[in-house]
Amino acid sequence: MEFEQLWQNALSEIEVQISKPNFATWLKSSRLLDKQDGVVLVGLPNTFAKEWVENKYQKIILNALRNLDQSTKKVQFTVHHGNGAAATLAPSRRSRKVNEDDFKKQLAFEELKIDPETNLNPRYRLSSFVVGKTNELAYAAASAVIEEIGRKYNPLFIYGGTGLGKTHLIQGIGNEIKVRYNDKVRVKYVSSEKFTNDVVYGIRNKRMEDMKDKYRTVDVLIIDDVQFIGGKTSTEEEFFHTFNALYENNKQIIISSDRPPKFIPTLEDRLRSRFEGGMIADIAYPDYELRLAILKTKLQERGVALPENIVEFIANKIQKNLRELEGVLNRILFYQYAKRDITLKMVEEIVGETLQQPTKNINPNQVIKSVADYFEVSPNDLTGRCRQKSIVEPRQITMYLLRDILGLSYPDIGQKLGKRDHTTAIYAYSKLSEEMNKNQDLNQKIIAIKDLIYKE
Ligand code: ADP
Ligand code: MG
Repeated sequence: MEFEQLWQNALSEIEVQISKPNFATWLKSSRLLDKQDGVVLVGLPNTFAKEWVENKYQKIILNALRNLDQSTKKVQFTVHHGNGAAATLAPSRRSRKVNEDDFKKQLAFEELKIDPETNLNPRYRLSSFVVGKTNELAYAAASAVIEEIGRKYNPLFIYGGTGLGKTHLIQGIGNEIKVRYNDKVRVKYVSSEKFTNDVVYGIRNKRMEDMKDKYRTVDVLIIDDVQFIGGKTSTEEEFFHTFNALYENNKQIIISSDRPPKFIPTLEDRLRSRFEGGMIADIAYPDYELRLAILKTKLQERGVALPENIVEFIANKIQKNLRELEGVLNRILFYQYAKRDITLKMVEEIVGETLQQPTKNINPNQVIKSVADYFEVSPNDLTGRCRQKSIVEPRQITMYLLRDILGLSYPDIGQKLGKRDHTTAIYAYSKLSEEMNKNQDLNQKIIAIKDLIYKE
């Protein structure tokens, strides 16, 4: 296809202009989606990549495209979750494909249980949602919505990092409403990806009326991961109209996102202010008590008994993504099924693998280099004495990662990064650990840098 060829040519030009890890992280799954009247539309796999590329590589990309076709005037970016294989460079293609196939099989299996009418998965129940300090506001708001559908908190906007229970909570609301109101209330759950696909399909096949019927005739509309809607004009437009139609009829809208509305930069202002007009509640990282309680609930659901020291070990280690808890539990279940004794040592291994921290092969210099690559600064800036403002955050992140990934001592960290005092390292580590709980941008950066570190 013509687009594909053009983009491959552009990429090979771009590739020599930016660092290898940056290219791999940001551009490898990009695609050229469209080209009209000199405007080129480039798709990136998620909002964060989109913003990043938009801010940092727009010029380089535009120049590369212009060199190939002088009529190019402008380049635009959008989030595109399609199979990126078409524009993916050859080496990474195969492994992506395999994972995707596995993933699809898994999805197909999960979908068996999903109610086709509501799209709700019955496994997410409110009664199995464990409440603690970090999610109690979200839970209270959810309960209020169930009591007074469409009248109390509309829309209800829940945000928080990956794997912290957003989908569980919002689907739980849907399932609870079905039970409570004996199916008299029509509920629909939809991922923003599905919503987008429906809009695109509707436009392409001139079936927008079907699309409208589907979404505007419900009493409760639940939209998951709304951050992916921002930026696609036609989808956003349609979402706005759907939103208004429901809102004006006192229908309930429930939304989840990985960040609050004001941090979804691509969201149109009128939609943002609508979101902000309702109830916004966050779900933060669970503390140890909550993790322990969730783990115990899950064990009970599965009818598994584990020694207390093992349960505590797991709750201690799995801190940032509760989905990993499920992963660990499933592995343990499998071993139990295979009639093997569950020992602490075995669980340590399982947890270690789940957290994917192959610390053995990583040295401090790799950490420093990856941070430097990510921020496009020189490693010497990080290890030197320079006090330039633009270096402060990268250096603090380096300190944080040296501690988090390698467990280096604070004096060692201080020494490595410009012979600083150990208190500087302690300060950086505790500041970032604290901020990780609240600052999604920071979270995303750290995840992306860890990807770079483990990929090297
Ligand atoms: P998100 O949508 O925020 O990425 P999920 O809702 O998919 O996260 O949650 C990830 C996993 O953690 C799911 O298996 C979910 O059941 C579980 N989980 C998260 N929070 C809780 C909670 N408070 N109580 C019980 N299970 C939870
Ligand atoms: Mg989710």
